[in-house]
Amino acid sequence: MSEKLKVSGGTALSEEDIRSGKIFVTEDSLNCAYAWDTGVAINRYLAELKQGRIIATECRKCKRVMLPPRLFCELCFIPCNTWRHVKDTGTINTFSICHVHWDASRIKEGEDPHLPAVIEIDGASEGMGIMHILGEVEPEKIKIGMKVQAVWKPETERTGSINDIKYFKPL
Ligand SMILES: [Zn+2]
Repeated sequence: MSEKLKVSGGTALSEEDIRSGKIFVTEDSLNCAYAWDTGVAINRYLAELKQGRIIATECRKCKRVMLPPRLFCELCFIPCNTWRHVKDTGTINTFSICHVHWDASRIKEGEDPHLPAVIEIDGASEGMGIMHILGEVEPEKIKIGMKVQAVWKPETERTGSINDIKYFKPL
């Protein structure tokens, strides 16, 4: 790596910055074992996904149905413990046609682009949505406002993960 790493809108890094440890990089694989507590709201959200359902919480004051669920309303500053199942259908709020993988490496020639999208789920309040991927759709046919539905993994393959939904497909 002899030339400066280019970044947009920021300060370019030099090889010296990397060599001197000014920034943290590694070319070795990391061995970072860790535990992460999902918390009460996300724990139930993931458990419901394993059952093939999407659950949200509702604020008793402003009546927003919040997804992913949370145990407090950041607008009303009150606890929220009213749970509501919402549908597994929704509307594309925004999307991208990505020609890079999640690690920012370019996809291979002929490989299908990734199609991440933010989907506002039916039954949740406006603007409440989840980020997922789209499938069974030609990239050029995706539109903001398009109705989509979750395609679930078979029950025996679900693990209590957002990936229990394989993708969202057009309705
Ligand atoms: Zn509220």
